Amino acid sequence: MLYTNYHTHSKWCDGKLNPENYVTEAINRNMYALGFSGHSPLPFKSWWNMNYENLIKYFSQVKKLKKQYEGQLKIYQGIEADYIDGVSSPSNFKHFGLDYVIGGVHYIGKLNEDEYFDFDDNPEKFQRGIDEIFEGDIKKLVKYYYEQIMKMVLNDPPDVIAHLDLILKFNKDNAFINTEEKWYKDIVFETLEVIAKSNCILEMNSRSYFKKLLSEFHPAPFIVKQCKELNINFTINSDAHTPQEVNSYLQQQANLLKTFGYKESMIFDEKGWYKSPI
Ligand SMILES: [Zn+2]
Ligand SMILES: [Zn+2]
Repeated sequence: MLYTNYHTHSKWCDGKLNPENYVTEAINRNMYALGFSGHSPLPFKSWWNMNYENLIKYFSQVKKLKKQYEGQLKIYQGIEADYIDGVSSPSNFKHFGLDYVIGGVHYIGKLNEDEYFDFDDNPEKFQRGIDEIFEGDIKKLVKYYYEQIMKMVLNDPPDVIAHLDLILKFNKDNAFINTEEKWYKDIVFETLEVIAKSNCILEMNSRSYFKKLLSEFHPAPFIVKQCKELNINFTINSDAHTPQEVNSYLQQQANLLKTFGYKESMIFDEKGWYKSPI
């Protein structure tokens, strides 16, 4: 298989070191393509999203690297855009001439007038969100999360949907959500039906796994199984925040796809997105 990763963060958002450090690491590891996807700027303060000043610096650095490393590595410029109903949406960044947009939901509601709730920051904050926004009802929070993904796919579909079940990030051993329960599977399957009717690609994402938060990749195996039934295509990413993570668990994620009958994953290059053998 060709090793590719289109989900990469650098020092311009919440990752470590310069984009060039990721490029040299990807070359050393014989990767075919590397795409950068810094966290999109937002109209409110966030420690892990870029501001517009950084966005411009990030774009110009990646543009330079594309030329500098031509013939050694295919380098692409993307963004990880937040979908927040009425506030931020994947197409907000299309005019920058990006190669692709990864769309994801990290914010669900507001803790107070000024503070948006980013549910994937830490478990304490996650619990605070459940209590203060969703009346202590985890089901309400989870349903709201998947509804936001459905809205994004219906209203402003990105090229790639990030880490579909990120809402489970702090759910090791079903700490918050019993994912075996019917209500959970129902909302996930409803979301997959919406995705299946779109042209969106889903990603396999190894980050929560190699950070030892979860014992599975995103999304969980039962979701991958259903995706195969619905002919939903995957691209395989590591969500790297350090150069050492550029190819973390790419092969293992491909192996998981294969166990559910997938023979190909989606890759991007100058031909656009297409299926490539795994
Ligand atoms: Zn993300
Ligand atoms: Zn990311």
